[in-house]
Amino acid sequence: MKILEERILKDGAVRPGNVLKVDCFLNHQMDISLFQEMGKEWKRLFEGVNINKILTIEASGIGIASIVSTYFGNVPVVFAKKSESLNVDGEVYRTKVESFTKKRVYDVFVSKKYLSPDDHILIIDDFLANGAALNGLIDLVTSAGATVEGIGIAIEKGFQPGGDLIRSKGVHLESLAIVDKLDAETGEIAFRH
Ligand code: 5GP
Repeated sequence: MKILEERILKDGAVRPGNVLKVDCFLNHQMDISLFQEMGKEWKRLFEGVNINKILTIEASGIGIASIVSTYFGNVPVVFAKKSESLNVDGEVYRTKVESFTKKRVYDVFVSKKYLSPDDHILIIDDFLANGAALNGLIDLVTSAGATVEGIGIAIEKGFQPGGDLIRSKGVHLESLAIVDKLDAETGEIAFRH
């Protein structure tokens, strides 16, 4: 998606450890017009797919998923929670995710009330790196007996194994920008086309 790539080149910064910092438009300050363009693009890419719910993971996925929902008939957005909360009552589906940016393993969960076998899920997230976050989300959907109809990722880091891992499961994955190279010394960012 050209406007996303252009925005990454304009405002993204490469950090050591293969980290792309895009927090001025994607995961701290959020550019809603850009999210709307992303929503339109995923709607086009998933045209005709039956989707009745969007699943994402806190925190960065929530803003994107909420805007994207408006292009899919305002379907409910459920986000997997990372921290225990007294507000979550009843039983939960739970799985473990290894964080790429924080280098630790944490539990994520969704209340059983919000995922059911009738659900046709579009998973949305900001980044795909090693695929741990997506694997966790797919695991939650599968535990509920629901169906993953597709996955929309804003930025896939194509030099990390997550994309191949997820595609090898036969899931329809659409990444709007695939970064094939990040160079922290020169600041170079190269895309796959
Ligand atoms: P994975 O689980 O695929 O290894 O990593 C995905 C998660 O790690 C995303 O939800 C995102 O929050 C975070 N992440 C991975 N790589 C990057 C990166 O280069 N930049 C930023 N800002 N977040 C990243």
